[in-house]
Amino acid sequence: MILLSDPRVIDTPVADCGEPLAEIATVPVITLDPREQDEAGAYGRVRASVLERLGSASERLPAGVRLLVIEGHRSLAEQARRFALYEDRLRLSGITDPAELLRQASAFVSPVEVAPHCAGAAVDLTLIDSDGVELDMGGAVNGHRTGDETWCPFDAPGLSPTARANRNLLAQCLSEQGFVNYPSEWWHWSYGDRYWALMTGAPAAVYGPI
Ligand SMILES: [Zn+2]
Repeated sequence: MILLSDPRVIDTPVADCGEPLAEIATVPVITLDPREQDEAGAYGRVRASVLERLGSASERLPAGVRLLVIEGHRSLAEQARRFALYEDRLRLSGITDPAELLRQASAFVSPVEVAPHCAGAAVDLTLIDSDGVELDMGGAVNGHRTGDETWCPFDAPGLSPTARANRNLLAQCLSEQGFVNYPSEWWHWSYGDRYWALMTGAPAAVYGPI
């Protein structure tokens, strides 16, 4: 598994195409969940082409199923705050080696310099039915925050067949639109950031921090 702390991620060049952020709420086939709402409304925005691809992904889902977006863009200050918070939690659990802290924290929170959410390139999302009820994904979005790390990896062993099928459905519609998953978090997908460029072999990321 290549983590965001991997030196190859920061070594990936960025040629930002300058595309603006766009409001997820303007796309009717996507539902925006308010649980991560921030004062500036950043959570409800992603780069324009990322939003277009999300709309196409949602349209390709079976009737009655749609995408529920939990969080899109995130400020650099907020990213730094979350990284420090998670490092503190790991320190309390007895980890003191700085390199090990960085490695373990970056499984769930990206280091600021390479953060896909800060580039407007990433979304945390899941699937809902026609009543707005979340499908069984075998674990909650952001499960690491409540100590439920077991079910966070996309390929977590021991998932029920239903959860496995629902994760595969999410993966299929997003992969078709060019998104890549961060394998330690089934809900995190990105397009155009450094991690995406490294995983797809693109010569450079098209989105940097914004
Ligand atoms: Zn994420």
